[in-house]
Amino acid sequence: MMDRVPVFAFVRDAELDQSLAAAALRVTARGQYVLGEEVAAFEREFADFCGTAQCVGVANGTDALEIALRAAGIDRGDRVATVANAGYYTCAALGAIGAEPVFIDVDETLTMAPDALQAAQADAKAVVVTHLYGRLAAIERICAIAARRRMLVIEDCAQAHGAARSGKRAGSFGLAGCFSFYPTKNLGALGDAGAIVTSNLELAARATALRQYGWNAKYDVEQAGGRNSRLDELQAAFLRVKLPRLASMNAARVAVARRYCEGLRDTDLVLPQWYGDEYVAHLFVVRAKDRDALRARLNDERIDTAIHYPIPDHRQRVRTPCRTSDLPMTDAACDQVLTLPCYPGMPAKSVDRVVNVVRRHHAAKGGVRAR
Ligand SMILES: *Cc1c(COP(=O)(O)O)cnc(C)c1O
Repeated sequence: MMDRVPVFAFVRDAELDQSLAAAALRVTARGQYVLGEEVAAFEREFADFCGTAQCVGVANGTDALEIALRAAGIDRGDRVATVANAGYYTCAALGAIGAEPVFIDVDETLTMAPDALQAAQADAKAVVVTHLYGRLAAIERICAIAARRRMLVIEDCAQAHGAARSGKRAGSFGLAGCFSFYPTKNLGALGDAGAIVTSNLELAARATALRQYGWNAKYDVEQAGGRNSRLDELQAAFLRVKLPRLASMNAARVAVARRYCEGLRDTDLVLPQWYGDEYVAHLFVVRAKDRDALRARLNDERIDTAIHYPIPDHRQRVRTPCRTSDLPMTDAACDQVLTLPCYPGMPAKSVDRVVNVVRRHHAAKGGVRAR
């Protein structure tokens, strides 16, 4: 029987494993495990990579959002514009602060529709823009609208490490960019980790205090809303090994996405479209009118799929105090999105197996012919 095709897998790489082991030994030899030289070095390297002046390492991506929002001055009762199709992470961060989401609909790209932001009635103090699936949102237009409305812009870059437009990278457009280094992200640690990048030195200083109890110096508490959300030395050392490989890992993901687009071109699926480096293929997500039937068919053929995300934030069972207008694109997308297997080093023959099952499924419905 044929192997299952997983949605994501780590392709083993002996050279990488050795480098990671050497990094771990470097840390144990030093005997400093939290916020030390490795964290400081990674912060410099990642800020350089993103094109920002500063980087503040934190414990995970959700904390990065919460701490960046707090550092930007968002407080209890404030309103923050965001999308409802991006997995609830921003809502979790807003919930911790006691701030309230104002949901904005998405457009064809499944990222925030600038026109919907422009038309939004409720005035928000900030906007969190998610570069969903590894695709840069219309961040330049959103920043322009936000500037006119005096809203701060925070980018959620947890799926978009290295995505760029006109040479400018995710995280460098807004006031701050928030990253997760969860293991399956484009840049992944060997556990939880996150970071905030910014060129605003005051925001960086506040975030640095907030990640460690609100300390200005040891045991001297200056900032309210402080937390323990530190990045540890081992994860920083692992991230330093993996950062120089990010470009080639992203290229490997994009190669998979291109092969899908070529193979699925004349089916009735809605495929992602992108220009240049604005998409780093964190996830390969298509839209299908008969999503659940297609998913069942793929499963029968031993191909795993996922749904990112099945329930929009405003329809989650947990009570989320929010401003909700109609979100027709968001609701439609949640019923139609399907994530096909995509990871760096995914074999071309596995991609082709997925393509062939999708084509046969559509041919059976009287669509395209099977090849
Ligand atoms: C993964 C992710 C997060 C949260 O990151 P964690 O490190 O898991 O807390 C936030 N936003 C988006 C879009 C994500 O994909």
